[in-house]
Amino acid sequence: MVIATSKRISILGSTGSVGQNTLDLVDRNRDRFDVVALTAGRNVDDLIAQARQFKPLFAVIADPDAYKQLKDGLSGTGVSVAAGPDALIEAAQQPADLIMSAIVGAAGLKPTLAALAQSTVVALANKECLVCAGAIFMDAVRQHDATLLPVDSEHSAIFQVFDAQQSNTINRIILTASGGPFREWSIEDMAKASLAQATAHPNWSMGSKISVDSATMMNKGLEVIEAHYLFGLPESQIEILVHPQSVVHSLVDYVDGSVLAQLGTPDMRTPIAYALAWPDRMAVPCERLDLAEIATLSFEAPDSKRFPALALARNALQAGGAAPTLLNAANEVAVERFLAGEIGFLDIARAVEDTLVYCQYEAPSSLDDVLMLDTEARRAAGRWLAVGSAAE
Ligand code: NAD
Ligand code: MG
Repeated sequence: MVIATSKRISILGSTGSVGQNTLDLVDRNRDRFDVVALTAGRNVDDLIAQARQFKPLFAVIADPDAYKQLKDGLSGTGVSVAAGPDALIEAAQQPADLIMSAIVGAAGLKPTLAALAQSTVVALANKECLVCAGAIFMDAVRQHDATLLPVDSEHSAIFQVFDAQQSNTINRIILTASGGPFREWSIEDMAKASLAQATAHPNWSMGSKISVDSATMMNKGLEVIEAHYLFGLPESQIEILVHPQSVVHSLVDYVDGSVLAQLGTPDMRTPIAYALAWPDRMAVPCERLDLAEIATLSFEAPDSKRFPALALARNALQAGGAAPTLLNAANEVAVERFLAGEIGFLDIARAVEDTLVYCQYEAPSSLDDVLMLDTEARRAAGRWLAVGSAAE
C-alpha cells in the first residue's frame, strides 16, 4: 500500500493573483498540501482571511505598520505572526517541500534566495528575480542543489516540452505573447492611454504591475531574460511570436524540424498545478480547450517600433553586466508612477531607456551589488521621470 504524504507548502505573496490561484488549488486538494507560511505586502485583511482559512504555522506581512492588525486578527488561531522584511526571509526559511515565489518585483529576491537555501523545490512566478540577479540566482540554485520550477505560463509550457537530455538538439524556443490590450493601437493613441485601458488585459487576469508590463510588452522582454536563465539559451535562440488567442503557450523548435508546443485555455492554475504536482499532474477545473469552437489561431511578428520595451530588454540581455538589473529597477519605478497616474504610458519605456544610457556600472558579483544597482537605477529613473516627462 502506498501512503500518500502531503507536501508542505509556503506561499510568498499569497494575497496576489498567483498566490490566490495557488491557494485555490490547495483548497481543492486539502489532502495533498499542508500550508506552512503565507506572506503579503500590505493587504493585511486578505492575509488574515487566508490564514484563518488555511491555518498556516506562520503569517507574515511585509509592512511593519500592519503588525498589530495582523496579530489582533489572528489572535486565538495558533498562527504565529510577524512583520517586516526580515520576517519575510524567516517565512521563506520555514521547512517546506515547495515554496511558491509569487511576490511581485525585486522585493521578492531576498526571500526567494532564502527559499533556495533550503535546498527544496521553488516554484518561480517572480520573473523579476531572474531579470535583476540572473547569474547570482542560478548560482544559488546550483550551490544549494535546489529544484527550480517555472510558473510563468510560457516557461511552464517550454519546460513541459524541453528535452533537457538533448538540449543541444534545440534550435530555438518561441515565447508566445498575446500582444496585450494595445496590440492594434497606434503610438498616438497609446500616448493617451489611461490606466484602466492599460490594465484591461484581453485574456489573462493578473496583478497590476504585470498587466502594465503586458501592455508595454516589457513583460515579454523580461520573459526573454527569464528564459535565458531558466533554459540556458542565448538571446539569439529565443524568439517572440504574437498570438492573440493565448492558446499556444510557447514552443520548442528542434533540429529535425519538429516543433513541440503546450496548449491550453488561459488559466494560470494550469502552470501553477504543473509546478505544485510535479513530477506528477493534478486536476484543474479550468475551461477545457475546444479547438473546433475556437476554429482559428493566428500568429504575427511583434512590432518593435510600437513596443520599444522589447528591444530594450533584448539589448540589456545582450549587453549583460549591470544592464538587466538596471532595466528591471527602472521599469518597476516607471510602472509604479504610471499606476499612480503621474506619467503617461509612453514615458515608461522612455524612462527605462534613459536610465540605461545614464547609469553605467560594472556587472554585479554579489547580492549586495544587485541591491546597490537596483537602488541607483530607481533613483535615476525617479529623477528622469520628475524632469524628463515634465519636459515633454
Ligand atoms: P500581485 O500584485 O497580484 O501580487 C503580488 C503579491 O506580492 C501580493 O501578495 C503582495 O501583497 C505581495 N507584495 C507586493 N509588494 C511586496 C513587497 N514589497 N514585499 C513583500 N510582498 C509584496 O502580482 P501577481 O500578478 O500575482 O504576480 C506575482 C509575480 O508573478 C510577478 O513577478 C509576476 O510577474 C509573476 N507572474 C504573474 C502572473 C499572473 O497571472 N498574475 C503570470 C506569470 C507571472
Ligand atoms: Mg508569462
